[in-house]
Amino acid sequence: MNNHLSERINNMATSATLAMAAKARELRGQGKDIIGLSLGEPDFNIPDFIKEAAKKAIDENYSSYSPVDGYVDLKQAISNKFKRDNNLEYGLNQIVVSTGAKQSLANIAMVMLNKGDEVILPAPYWVSYSDIVKLAEGVPVEVPTSIASDFKMTPEQLEAAITPKTKMMWFSSPCNPSGSVYNEKELKGLVEVLKKHPGIFVVSDEIYEHINFRGGHVSIAGIDGMYDRTITVNGVSKAFAMTGWRIGYLGGPDWVAKACTKFQGQNTSGANAIAQRATITALEAPISKIQFMIDEFHKRRDLILDLLGEIKGFNLNVPEGAFYVFPDISSFFGKTMKGKKINNASDFALYLLEFANVATVTGEAFGNPNCIRISYAASEAELREAISRIKAAL
Ligand code: PMP
Ligand code: GLU
Repeated sequence: MNNHLSERINNMATSATLAMAAKARELRGQGKDIIGLSLGEPDFNIPDFIKEAAKKAIDENYSSYSPVDGYVDLKQAISNKFKRDNNLEYGLNQIVVSTGAKQSLANIAMVMLNKGDEVILPAPYWVSYSDIVKLAEGVPVEVPTSIASDFKMTPEQLEAAITPKTKMMWFSSPCNPSGSVYNEKELKGLVEVLKKHPGIFVVSDEIYEHINFRGGHVSIAGIDGMYDRTITVNGVSKAFAMTGWRIGYLGGPDWVAKACTKFQGQNTSGANAIAQRATITALEAPISKIQFMIDEFHKRRDLILDLLGEIKGFNLNVPEGAFYVFPDISSFFGKTMKGKKINNASDFALYLLEFANVATVTGEAFGNPNCIRISYAASEAELREAISRIKAAL
């Protein structure tokens, strides 16, 4: 039946993170004791004060369609958040609320890219960027980085990747999957290059901004000359453990916001009303209310680095944010273990699934074929057990 499907969908890769999570769920259903370290999803419950706000919204009958771009008071809370946390001034006409940051990204691609427009993706990049870009008929241009540069793109690499067709650059800091955080100096270095190419727009995905163990998150939109050409994407999935509630948002030039609203209006309409109401409460809360989760991720980061450090052949950077480690495991390529030849990172991830019962994600999906991604958004006990199983299987 495949020939009845569009080329668009036939050419699209399945999200590797979601595919691995589904596979882990399926194996668990068959009775296997799988530890899932594949999905980037906080294992905390949503804080009670946010749940209460959602319950109140139900009782207050927030049941109708919301404005396509989000409730005005939510957009005001987002505007205040941008000012408070990022020193960015986004008016209400510059903000669009969507069904997750993933939809914000898809909206941007659909309203900004024409066929053949190139989008620079410092690799490793978040798994969905390249297929979202392709869906909009753009061309992802990967710029490979490695542990040697802490998985960060240098100004020279950016310059070399720019062509007359370059329309945008998309990146996340803190980065999924590498956990790398660009500091102000590094961002300014990239901005110096961008200044020479005024037609290039930047998507700055800051969904992990609060999960930053070094502190001092820097928004590229705040750097001289970048405000009018940056779209800042964020959401409540990660910092507030609200992944399933599906609220993300963007701040950017008013004409981008207007176009995204138009596109979303023909697509999905306003995001879930109850989740939007709860998001107001989440964003108005002081960061101190979620600090316990950030502290816990920090502890687990240190733990997983210690544990993985004991396994020969794992080469690691020290991630400063998000909740992933992205070890280079290419030293295993070419080896045969338990009758399985490991040719690449996908073979390695499947090997770990089969022989350690631990689900991870191949780095290939993130544009780096030498690595795997391990999410440490899991309990300390699970992490200890998972790493000891991996060690035994290797
Ligand atoms: N960007 C990055 C870097 C992510 O890790 C995620 C997590 N899935 C998203 C965007 C999308 O987040 P959501 O759609 O849950 O808001
Ligand atoms: N962002 C998370 C991850 O990278 C969630 C899964 C997804 O939306 O792809 O695992």
